[in-house]
Amino acid sequence: MSKIRVLADHVANQIAAGEVVERPASVAKELVENSIDAGARRITIEIEAGGRRLLKVSDDGEGMVRDDAILAFERHATSKIRETDDLAAIGTLGFRGEALASIASVAKVELTTCIEGANAATRVTIDGGRMRDVKDAAHPRGTTISVRDLFFNIPARRKFLRSEATETYHLTNLVTHYALAHPEISFTFVNNGREVVRTAPAKDLRERAYQIFGEEFLKNLLEVDGGEPQFARVSGFVSAPRDRRTSRDSQFLFVNRRFVRDRMIGRALSEAYRSILPHGVYPAALLFIETPLEEVDVNVHPAKTEVRFRRQAAVADAVREAVRAALANASYVPPPEPPPVMTATAAVSSITPQPRIEFVPPPPPPPRAPVEPSGDEIARDLEIMLQSAPQPVKSAVPFDSAEKIARRVTPESLSTNIRPLGQLDESFIIATDDQGLLLIDQHVAHERILFDKYRALEAERRTDSQQMLVPETFDLTPAQAAVFDDLVPELEEYGFELMRLSGRTVAIRAVPADLPGSEARNMLFELLDTVDAEKKTAAPDTMRDEIAASLACHAAIKVNMPLAPEKMHWLIDRLLQTSSPTTCPHGRPVILRLSTRDILKGFHRI
Ligand code: ADP
Ligand code: MG
Repeated sequence: MSKIRVLADHVANQIAAGEVVERPASVAKELVENSIDAGARRITIEIEAGGRRLLKVSDDGEGMVRDDAILAFERHATSKIRETDDLAAIGTLGFRGEALASIASVAKVELTTCIEGANAATRVTIDGGRMRDVKDAAHPRGTTISVRDLFFNIPARRKFLRSEATETYHLTNLVTHYALAHPEISFTFVNNGREVVRTAPAKDLRERAYQIFGEEFLKNLLEVDGGEPQFARVSGFVSAPRDRRTSRDSQFLFVNRRFVRDRMIGRALSEAYRSILPHGVYPAALLFIETPLEEVDVNVHPAKTEVRFRRQAAVADAVREAVRAALANASYVPPPEPPPVMTATAAVSSITPQPRIEFVPPPPPPPRAPVEPSGDEIARDLEIMLQSAPQPVKSAVPFDSAEKIARRVTPESLSTNIRPLGQLDESFIIATDDQGLLLIDQHVAHERILFDKYRALEAERRTDSQQMLVPETFDLTPAQAAVFDDLVPELEEYGFELMRLSGRTVAIRAVPADLPGSEARNMLFELLDTVDAEKKTAAPDTMRDEIAASLACHAAIKVNMPLAPEKMHWLIDRLLQTSSPTTCPHGRPVILRLSTRDILKGFHRI
């Protein structure tokens, strides 16, 4: 009845080598994957002290017989593959046969397991890799593994663990990911005796996302359903363009229900939003890619968080097109053109006598209504051209050498004699100074002014706040809730008044002066999602900068806003008084200059 075998050396050597136990969340990942592979319908994860003191995973899966329970702790012992060939089509989350061995070598582990219909369960105790005890025990069908005192025998590693809040944040995120990828399994997550997540079995992803994130979250998402079943089906949800994130942290990608990080998919996702999201801003996404097993190699990375597709480009196309179709469905982009009957080259050579078309004309502009065009995008595009990217654009852009047109301005070259002339696109102030023509991005200029102001007020403990007429209440995601309490004191330094009402529901009672109340929640979400708790424990100043930058961004005047001449004067005066008038807190340029000299050259006057 035993199933586990130790892999032959020639098979074991084919497996991506490396350490899997980095932190409590990586231990939890391996244990939860084992439970899913064992066919569990119910998985409970309990942690104490951020998982260092205790990390316990129980399931109602198939369990193990006694021999297997002992063998499971050997290196390269697995029931999931036998031969090298099996590596080509892996249908389970695990296959390396190393996780339990690695975990048992750095912690005190107790495994209790029982198969259907057995007289008794087996309990195996193993400390720092040494088997201590094997005996009968009581346990229903399934397996419970508790991992205590992680890294107790490697003080150097233990010292490198982050704060309890950080480790809990990573653990909560991990449970969230697996719960999303497996709606049919019921997940419970208990932190220091408190139940943080509890989900009943759900019928599909939509219902599971509702259980975890709440109604509000779903309301703003677009459903994705596309791709090609032969190599990549793509389904899930993406955010509407108005919902913007400054990092990829809210993108959850799954390949055959395995949570992965993949740049190529991330890039395909961004491409789908081209022309409707500025550079440096990312959509939120929950994307599931289903491929035939032989189309994807999961044996790339020891933690199995990276995969390699046999047909990379086709998968990227499928993701981009599926997301683009979801955006078109919601009228954010024009519907795709019907596919041509023949390929372009075939058509040209065999039938139509027309000249070849060398360049695809630019796509029609997106419909205006729901899209907020962005000045950041233009500034960023200009800057990219300025940084002389050699190949990509060339003859596609109207001028062939943008470096000669406008340049980033150095702080030293700025005089106080800047005179605004007007506005371009209601987004950029056009001004002159002694050296030429200036383009000032009004949003980032104001962002810089506010950033300096907030930082100064915070340093002097003089922040102003304004009470909300009606406190705004809303629900946090489990991961956001894990860092919320730590962020509150920092936010209060800036004039926020926040309250935790119950569970994951919180209220904003006051916001910093200048911040429109309507922006408060977006800002809070953005911070809770992007503030990697590690930064906070490492350097409170980084954290404060991050809050000030986010506050400045949300309070600053937007692009596409007409400005009266006095307002332009005010903006320029104040900008010149800031610590760094030429770059915004996120590092983008604030001012570009077209020098008189270059203008003269352009007109062949010198
Ligand atoms: P892998 O998952 O790569 O096979 P592990 O070291 O994680 O390697 O686990 C070794 C073996 O122990 C698995 O192949 C499986 O047979 C068994 N096992 C581990 N966890 C469980 C569990 N929760 N329920 C049933 N069997 C398990
Ligand atoms: Mg495993």
